[in-house]
Amino acid sequence: MRRNQTRSKTSFAPLILVVATSIAIVILMGMGSPSTIPGSALAPAVVEASRTEDVLESIVRPARTQPHETSTSSLDLNQAFLWEVLQAHPKKEVYDVLWPRIASGDISIKWIYGTHADGHFRPAPVEDADGHMVNLMGSISIPLDLVDRARRGDSVRIAYLHIVLLHEAVHYEQIASGRFSPDVILKEAATPEECVAGWQLEREAYERECRFAMSVGQDWILRSYCTTLEPEAFDRNLFEVLQPRRTDNCPTFWMAELRK
Ligand SMILES: [Zn+2]
Repeated sequence: MRRNQTRSKTSFAPLILVVATSIAIVILMGMGSPSTIPGSALAPAVVEASRTEDVLESIVRPARTQPHETSTSSLDLNQAFLWEVLQAHPKKEVYDVLWPRIASGDISIKWIYGTHADGHFRPAPVEDADGHMVNLMGSISIPLDLVDRARRGDSVRIAYLHIVLLHEAVHYEQIASGRFSPDVILKEAATPEECVAGWQLEREAYERECRFAMSVGQDWILRSYCTTLEPEAFDRNLFEVLQPRRTDNCPTFWMAELRK
């Protein structure tokens, strides 16, 4: 069931950026080691390049490393590695729900170039004549640098890639199930109700990735917000993560709600 998207007139200012849905940047250590996981011939290529600036939610920090080689062979190796990671992911949401949609081509993978960027799920709902969603297609943008370093054996980045994939799989499920409208991601929030939906969408994804990270002993990677699951403290941490990414009035609304 899709949510009613009726918009009411409010005092919210015009908005220019989309909802940020990515995982927070973390500071990752280590430079990786030689590849230990060879690429293999898997599904037909559906990975396509995307320009960094196309991914509105990505946060790019100054590059600390040389640009990565992006030859066809390198992309093939990273795609094959990503396919393996998706299929071998510990969480059902990824290997059993998201991966089949990627393998079928309904969800495509786009590379994000740049050494510091986050994942992003962009839904592309297929609707019937009545506006009901009959299929959910879309794309997931993944930082090439993250996958490349994970493929070369960087254990921290392998763990972080698992976390990123779970986060985006949660977003896929949120939309595919009808619990959230695609517009929560695709359109800027213009009403308090839409700000609430944006908060709930991200809070669920962050909490589930945090619980997963804790379960595998990797929560230290998410140290900016995954320090506790106590609801009020988690909300405060999450606010600090989400607030800088928004140019709409939602942070003001969220803050008022958090203070209640
Ligand atoms: Zn998100």
